[in-house]
Amino acid sequence: MAEIWAERALLPEGWAENVLVAVTPEGRIDSVEAGVAPRGTRTELLLPSIANLHSHAFQRAMAGLSEAKGDQPKDTFWTWRKIMYRFLDHLTPDDVESIAALVQMEMLEAGYATNVEFHYLHHRQGGAHYANIAEMSERIAAAASRTGIGLTLLPVHYQFGGIDGRALGPGQQRFGTNPDEFARLLEGAEAAVAKLGPDSGVGVAPHSLRAVSKEGLALVTNLRPGRPVHLHLAEQIPEVEEILAGYGLRPTEWLLDNAAVDRNWTLIHATQMTDDETIRLAKTGAVAGLCPITESSLGDGIFNGTVWQEAGGRWGYGSDSNIRISLVEELRTLEYSLRLRDRGRAVLATRNRTTGRVLYDAGLDGGATAAGRETGAIRAGLWADLVGVSLQNEVMVGRKDDTLLDSFVFAGNDGLIKDVWSAGRHQVRNGKHLDRDRIVSDYLACITRLQDKM
Ligand code: ZN
Repeated sequence: MAEIWAERALLPEGWAENVLVAVTPEGRIDSVEAGVAPRGTRTELLLPSIANLHSHAFQRAMAGLSEAKGDQPKDTFWTWRKIMYRFLDHLTPDDVESIAALVQMEMLEAGYATNVEFHYLHHRQGGAHYANIAEMSERIAAAASRTGIGLTLLPVHYQFGGIDGRALGPGQQRFGTNPDEFARLLEGAEAAVAKLGPDSGVGVAPHSLRAVSKEGLALVTNLRPGRPVHLHLAEQIPEVEEILAGYGLRPTEWLLDNAAVDRNWTLIHATQMTDDETIRLAKTGAVAGLCPITESSLGDGIFNGTVWQEAGGRWGYGSDSNIRISLVEELRTLEYSLRLRDRGRAVLATRNRTTGRVLYDAGLDGGATAAGRETGAIRAGLWADLVGVSLQNEVMVGRKDDTLLDSFVFAGNDGLIKDVWSAGRHQVRNGKHLDRDRIVSDYLACITRLQDKM
């Protein structure tokens, strides 16, 4: 049995000192005890790890390539998407594996023990299937076996180029499945993930209301009962207008009226919601999958966070486009967006929890549900998804209890993270992933190849 000892730790019952966590060979927490003399692997501050609930790994490789003025009067999400489509047309399975490995390594180093991958790049250039329809899913799983991250793989069902059922556009040929193909793809993805540890698994992801039919949505969401269901919901105003024109209702209204949304669901972005929609959706227990850095990067808008929180809504964080992978930055970007909007401070703080604590707790809960993973606390029985943070530095020194999280989230950076365990796999030590050098050099070779092609 492995043992991890921490000067301080955030336990379900609160802050504790001199904590010993025993981990089973399978990677689950066996026992947690406070007030114990140091032994085993020593850390300063031990936190439960938050699952990264939304990622499109391949987009990491185009970070920084879409910041120039385009030929349109206004650069928007939709001009960014054009560049993304042009870029992804060049990617081979080897490229996808190299990029995914880098992304997962960066996630681990940022404190995320789990990658929930919303995976839609399935086919060859032009749309022909690979000999194994789940080839690309295999590559995402292969990356996870290299990096040791916990993987929840969400194969995406993508049928149409718009809500009117139009054919996929030129940039979308590599995504398409009909319901039968999707069922086969899901089985292939499941087989790939089964080769990883028992902590990894699958879920399903109908891409968005604009890309799947009503029948497709119903079918896909029932394929794996009890497993996570993820959908992009109402990210952009033109998307709201498209659903309104096609279905006569705004996307959130339509979804609530037509699908059995419950605690298994994660709605990605959920940016464009009225107060009424926000309250109704919050009350289902579904998780809002917020991606504050990407939403800032793409100019999506600001999540209706205060109304959502007041209605008891749950949320978590994803790095989505992966333009920047940083857990602390993701958390503070959410709070800062609300401060700028409301001209206030400590917007999400509650009477007995500080802002940093509220932001962190939300991510633990929402991330665990969105990943369909037994994680989110330092508690016996759960996977040992743990983060060791340095206390002897200019940011954290002298801080106590919730101000530890406030300092980490608002004044800290990822460099404070020294150790990360995913289901007991100790992949990050002294701030560095064990296989960092090889993963980075593979990635550099991949980018050089891609640049030659583009
Ligand atoms: Zn997304």
